[in-house]
Amino acid sequence: MNKRFPPLPPVWRKQLTLGLASLCYLLTGWVGQTLFSLHPANITLIWLPSGIALIMLLNWGMTSLLWIWLGSFLLNVGGMTVEGALPSSLGHTAIAALIDTLAPALALYLLRRFLPLGTHNANDLIKLVLLAGVVPISISSLLLTWNLVLGHYIAGSTWVAMAKMFFLADILGIILVYQIHTGWQDPHALRIVRLRHLVLPLAGLSLFGILGLGTQSSWLIYLMPPLLIILAFEVSRFYLSIFSGLTMLFIILATAHGLGPFIHLTPEETNTEMMAFVFSSTLTIFGVSLQRAQLHRTEQDKQTAEKQASYDPLSGLLNRRGFMPTLARLDNQGRRYCVAMLDIDNFKSINDNHGHRVGDRVIQILAQIIHNRCRSQDITARIGGEEFALVLVDIAPDEVEPLLEAIRSTLANMSIVAEQQTLYCTISIGWADSASGHDGETLLHHADLALYQAKSAGKNRIVAFSD
Ligand code: GH3
Ligand code: MG
Ligand code: MG
Repeated sequence: MNKRFPPLPPVWRKQLTLGLASLCYLLTGWVGQTLFSLHPANITLIWLPSGIALIMLLNWGMTSLLWIWLGSFLLNVGGMTVEGALPSSLGHTAIAALIDTLAPALALYLLRRFLPLGTHNANDLIKLVLLAGVVPISISSLLLTWNLVLGHYIAGSTWVAMAKMFFLADILGIILVYQIHTGWQDPHALRIVRLRHLVLPLAGLSLFGILGLGTQSSWLIYLMPPLLIILAFEVSRFYLSIFSGLTMLFIILATAHGLGPFIHLTPEETNTEMMAFVFSSTLTIFGVSLQRAQLHRTEQDKQTAEKQASYDPLSGLLNRRGFMPTLARLDNQGRRYCVAMLDIDNFKSINDNHGHRVGDRVIQILAQIIHNRCRSQDITARIGGEEFALVLVDIAPDEVEPLLEAIRSTLANMSIVAEQQTLYCTISIGWADSASGHDGETLLHHADLALYQAKSAGKNRIVAFSD
């Protein structure tokens, strides 16, 4: 028997996902401390936990604060514990964790206040960098540095270099993680990618990355961002953010181990130059992907608007604007067809006696009958208030009248119930055949003349046009 576990209550699910995010926080922090530290200065070049903390707050709100504090405390307690001064060490670690917690909280507040709709255009990026990065991270970097100076972890004279290091690593962590997060929120995040479009850019990225580790060819690293910009036009924002993130992590990792084009005499110079490159590249690629998504949305809106402009919302059939080009297209293709015009008899009195809403319902019912009776290749349209046009494509001459008669008799024999009222109504039909050699517009006019004859002859009938 297939026994299923009962689903977790939402509160527990939230705590579980938060727990997983916290693990991510710890893991990326640990990777940053071990793999992405510039040797021998031990400067951590990227601090992804600052980005993860912001995403935790964006997703799960203030509940995340405790988890972030705990994550930061655990990451720092090892390095900040001084033998013989345990209480003071724990105090300074707790303060550092508090600063690490409050910085993303301030970023969240600023983002909600000044960028409530998130980043959608490239020009939102400046606000993002300021609100989620520069403002909260400047404050937290200064506070973290002072905390280290007061705890005698670093000499007071080195505070500027230390604050700068915190600032750069944190801001890069925020941008890298944030772009992945917004890419994931894209409705087409996991859209399947055409592999053949990826081969060249990905091969180029791998080649430039590997060759770029050599001293003579390290300049090849500079060619990686243009390849990512090419990818921005082939893959979803989510995949691009992963490719871009991995490329940047690769460059940071290489720099941390003394490889690539950014190695200088002092760690500070190396750090600053590499950060400037990674930061500007990431932002440029992120901006291009945002603009590309915006272009895609505009194109979709245009297509929806064009479709809406060609259809009549009441009947669901084509309107005159959509109908006329379709007719012209048939002429260009040299197809054989018949054009019929249908008009509801005495519709004005239906409106007068039963109300406009009942009139609308009659229009809908007739549209449904036309839709049911016509074949898939036929073109059906409501081209006026209570006037419909049909184009019966590739139809044998002896099949036209039975089809039109089926429409006429179905409506005539139907008792229509609408708005608690019952009524009967009929239509008149005129039609013309393209075998006469005329174009669609003329045939429509001929069908209209035949319709006029049907009306004059007493309505509720079908008349074929004849010269
Ligand atoms: P005939 O038998 O000669 O066709 O007479 P008729 O009353 O049907 O023709 P007429 O053209 O005089 O009236 C058409 C009416 O259709 C007038 C207008 O108020 C009504 N009408 C046009 N569009 C709509 C619509 O979308 N909904 C409703 N309920 N009425 C409409
Ligand atoms: Mg009418
Ligand atoms: Mg009419």
